[in-house]
Amino acid sequence: MIKIPYIGKVKSKFNGPTNPGIMREEESEITIFDDYAEGLFKTELSGYLEIYFHFDRAEPYQLKTFTYAGDYKGIFATRSPRRPSKLGSTIVKLLGRSGNILKVQGLDALDETPVIDIKPLHIPMNEEELEASEVQVRKMNPRKLIVSNIWAGKTDRLLLDAAQIHGHFCTGLAMGVMMATRAMQLIRGNSDGLEDLLAIVETNNCVSDGVQFVTGCTFGNNALIFKDFGKTAFTLTKRDGKGIRISTLPGGKGYMRKAHPLFSESYKKVVADQDHSDEEISKFKQLGVEKAFATLTLDFDKLFKVEDVDVEIPAYAPSHESILCNTCGEEVMGTRIIRRRGKQFCVPCAGENGKILTGNGIG
Ligand SMILES: [Zn+2]
Ligand SMILES: [Zn+2]
Repeated sequence: MIKIPYIGKVKSKFNGPTNPGIMREEESEITIFDDYAEGLFKTELSGYLEIYFHFDRAEPYQLKTFTYAGDYKGIFATRSPRRPSKLGSTIVKLLGRSGNILKVQGLDALDETPVIDIKPLHIPMNEEELEASEVQVRKMNPRKLIVSNIWAGKTDRLLLDAAQIHGHFCTGLAMGVMMATRAMQLIRGNSDGLEDLLAIVETNNCVSDGVQFVTGCTFGNNALIFKDFGKTAFTLTKRDGKGIRISTLPGGKGYMRKAHPLFSESYKKVVADQDHSDEEISKFKQLGVEKAFATLTLDFDKLFKVEDVDVEIPAYAPSHESILCNTCGEEVMGTRIIRRRGKQFCVPCAGENGKILTGNGIG
């Protein structure tokens, strides 16, 4: 046992357990006790500080625990407060100092939390080092930024990034981002692309790109299931089969149209009346961007229905040996080989069409 003095305390608007992603968005204050105030000399020259504090209201420690992202890990692989030392640490942005009070942003400590220590953050010296450290973080956890945006509810950031794979901004993409963000928050999930989290989309339109980007469940990592139902709906589930289905409400489209009357007019000109003049098209695109971001601000509960559902979980996708087609000589997944008269063929060489997913669904 060691004895460590408190040097100050936190003043925050948070009194009880709160999602750390939300807490880190807010400003709070650290008041340093008079006995230690002299130690703040020149702290204001630091842009960022490391704050060490005591989780004085934490429950007894647990050596294995669930994280906010839904992972089950050993305590030393998490930032959970339920640790033997009850020691918390966070990097905060220093907004300013007034006497013995530091104004900071990003402190995920509750009101009245005792503060133990403060240190300036070592910041990488040049841009090259900064970039190298970011690359390192991304290599360890490629979805880190996406996950922190999900927890902070930053759907505008997620929409901006999702458009990188979708190619344009539209309400469908915005709706997919909204639905997927809500489902991820409710299920406390994250995807490492190993099929432990599954998304089931019921239509192959713009919405499904928002879902793929935010959930990380994609066509390529076998965590995306497509049901050709033609409904703007999707389900997110963990392997226990307890899922969340989010679908659009019947009145949702009318509500959106009312909220964006300008776009409806332009849509009619370009799509219904086929006015493809440069001027009309560029207006249409610009309105599309505005409308997509405006969609994010609409009332979620007027657009969507959220329900708990039980999902039948498919087995993990098998990995098969590849077999050479006797006609074209290309390698083919073992499950897709067609055997005839002792020979093996790929689908086209066997003269068949196979199943094809196009904009019209599975044919
Ligand atoms: Zn789209
Ligand atoms: Zn072939």
